[in-house]
Amino acid sequence: MKQEYLDNLNPKQKEAVTATEGPLLIIAGAGSGKTRVLTSRVAHILKSGLAEPFNIMAVTFTNKAAREMKERIESLLEGNTYGLTVSTFHSFCAMLLRREAPAIGYPTNFVIYDEDDAKALVKNCIDQLGLSRTQFTFQSVRRKISSAKNKMENAATFAQKASGYFETRTAEIYQMYERRLTECYAFDFDDLIFQAVRLLKENENIRLNYQNKLKYILVDEYQDTNHSQYSLLKFLIGPHHNICVVGDEDQSIYRWRGADISNILNFEKDFPGAKVIKLEQNYRSTRTILEAASAVIANNEARKGKILWTEIDQGDPVRLILNDTASDEAKSIIDAIESCRQKYMLKDMAILYRTNAQSRAFEEHLRRHNLPYQIFGSVSFYQRKEIKDVIAYLKLLANGKDDISFQRIVNYPKRGIGETSIVHLREFAAQKNISILEACGRLEECDQLGSRPKTLLAKFIDLVEPFIEQKNFVDIGTLIQQLVDKLGLPEILIEEDPVMGQSRVENIDEFIAAAVEFAASSTEPTLDNFLAEISLYTDLDKYDEIEDKLSLMTLHSAKGLEFMAIFMVGLEDGLFPLGRAIEDPLELEEERRLFYVGATRAKRNLFLSMAASRGRYGEMGAIPSRFIKELPPGLVETSDNRHYQPERSYNSYQSRPKPVQSGTSAKSGVYYEYEEEEILRPGCIVQHPTFGRGKVTGVEGAGESLRLDIYFTGVGQKRIMAKFARLKVVG
Ligand code: ATP
Ligand code: MG
Repeated sequence: MKQEYLDNLNPKQKEAVTATEGPLLIIAGAGSGKTRVLTSRVAHILKSGLAEPFNIMAVTFTNKAAREMKERIESLLEGNTYGLTVSTFHSFCAMLLRREAPAIGYPTNFVIYDEDDAKALVKNCIDQLGLSRTQFTFQSVRRKISSAKNKMENAATFAQKASGYFETRTAEIYQMYERRLTECYAFDFDDLIFQAVRLLKENENIRLNYQNKLKYILVDEYQDTNHSQYSLLKFLIGPHHNICVVGDEDQSIYRWRGADISNILNFEKDFPGAKVIKLEQNYRSTRTILEAASAVIANNEARKGKILWTEIDQGDPVRLILNDTASDEAKSIIDAIESCRQKYMLKDMAILYRTNAQSRAFEEHLRRHNLPYQIFGSVSFYQRKEIKDVIAYLKLLANGKDDISFQRIVNYPKRGIGETSIVHLREFAAQKNISILEACGRLEECDQLGSRPKTLLAKFIDLVEPFIEQKNFVDIGTLIQQLVDKLGLPEILIEEDPVMGQSRVENIDEFIAAAVEFAASSTEPTLDNFLAEISLYTDLDKYDEIEDKLSLMTLHSAKGLEFMAIFMVGLEDGLFPLGRAIEDPLELEEERRLFYVGATRAKRNLFLSMAASRGRYGEMGAIPSRFIKELPPGLVETSDNRHYQPERSYNSYQSRPKPVQSGTSAKSGVYYEYEEEEILRPGCIVQHPTFGRGKVTGVEGAGESLRLDIYFTGVGQKRIMAKFARLKVVG
């Protein structure tokens, strides 16, 4: 049998592909072909007749990565992959629960709550327990619950560990939240994995069934697995232990979601006899890019350290562009993109930023320049209000226990049912131990409600009931169309907002089109399956590679992807690395890994930029990211587009030209340092952009945390963080 897929691999990669039996860890730097090895391995297992497609599960982190992986495998195998599982952890678990949920007391028509639904439920619980919403904010409680679930702690375990007033109360909220989810037949995102693990743990038959079936398990981006995902893998791996994980500890960027880097660092201990293969050749980037990224990540302590080399040329230097404002930064980047267009298509380039909010300035300028772009990580299509409202109706039709969806739409479109009536109805439902929708069927027993709300609620029930009856008999496209018409949504949306209404109506039409498409392409086009699919959909899934568009996304979303040119923007201390990371060494290392991920997405050109003022801190100036200082000066070429360069301004990052390399117009090899702070002594006179002229009366701390007491004429005494204030020493 000819094995062409092996011909395109280096000897180490080949070894990794063909070592099919027993646990295997492939640990290697960016662009070394880890994902390529994983897909080739699946092809190899199938082509060698070691297993059937349904015996293999490959998991990764995003739907997009999963889809790409599936496509790569299909092209290697020329088709037959029917039954092969290539998915994210979440969609694998959703599928498992859809089949097996009755084993843990859930029906198979459960609903999946997204973040908004989950937060609404937390809010309900806080209210019901009579706790203060200001003391217990739903965001922070939700975060605590989520992180507990990622650690596989249920409410009871959490309660046992809780100490002190806040934790004890949070435990009560968690307990109620957990109970309410069960009552609503709902899972939140964390539950998908958490409950799947519970199911496998508690049901030996189901567990053995899956273990026998899944003979080969492969995991991409293993460095970002959290404890619950790790437990899931542990339960799925049968006695054969054919688990292959690939990852790079330097690319672990989801600590905030519970990612546990020790999963990859301890793999060999976890799976005795595990084989470890390291890949050292990078096939993606130029030598300059690789050296630059490696030099920065070398400053991290929590790493194994590894060698990475490339046969690709030195290539162009890393370009650093310094700007005055965020808008100037956008302009410079767009100029750079325009000049790169001579070499690359727009779809081969991406702007990467630390926070979503940064995209706005770029969007504005891109539109002005008529450059087509696609933006990821902003409000996803399925998160738009008009779409979520329709989805809430559908969720309620699918599952009458879903109180959160009920509450969302009972008075939308407006039908005169007030907040108080809903609170009373909820109390009544709680007393009777039934769902709110069920409570509406027993309104005559409900003393809390007056006759008017009862009539209005009865009318609401009359509206939804026919749809509940029909839901399994008409195709979902028709169902949604009829629902939307019955509610009169198009007219209402245009009336609500004559400007935006039309595009909202178009969004709903697009949603209906998506349902029609689902009905046509799915083997089981039920409402439940449609809801499950869209609840796991992210806007990265809309990634359109056919049209030539520039990509804009956060650094987190860029993991695993590659582009010819990367524009990493907003490289300022406080933004990247984020402010909170500056004080915390672990967070700072995570930010540095994020820098490494961003830089290594680039195949040929890497651009970095910063703005001296972003309006983030009002008048305060920004200093260049410390990661810029970690770049070897010889690899960087700087364009300084700033006009604002006061003579002796503190933190104005005076540039010190190093010997110029080659004949370029830009200053080569420039690096930056904070100006000596000795000049800021008590007694000296400074000029502040807002407060004007003042005299330094006291100095505290040093470097980053240097604070100054200054007496300003007309303003009085102020305490100022020197780092943020654009102070000019005038005497
Ligand atoms: P990341 O850490 O960013 O996820 P990775 O290790 O998964 O990277 P891949 O995406 O698999 O790396 O590979 C990087 C690039 O190198 C891809 O374009 C891939 O096709 C190419 N590549 C990998 N191995 C080889 C090889 N042996 N010969 C030629 N090209 C290769
Ligand atoms: Mg990869």
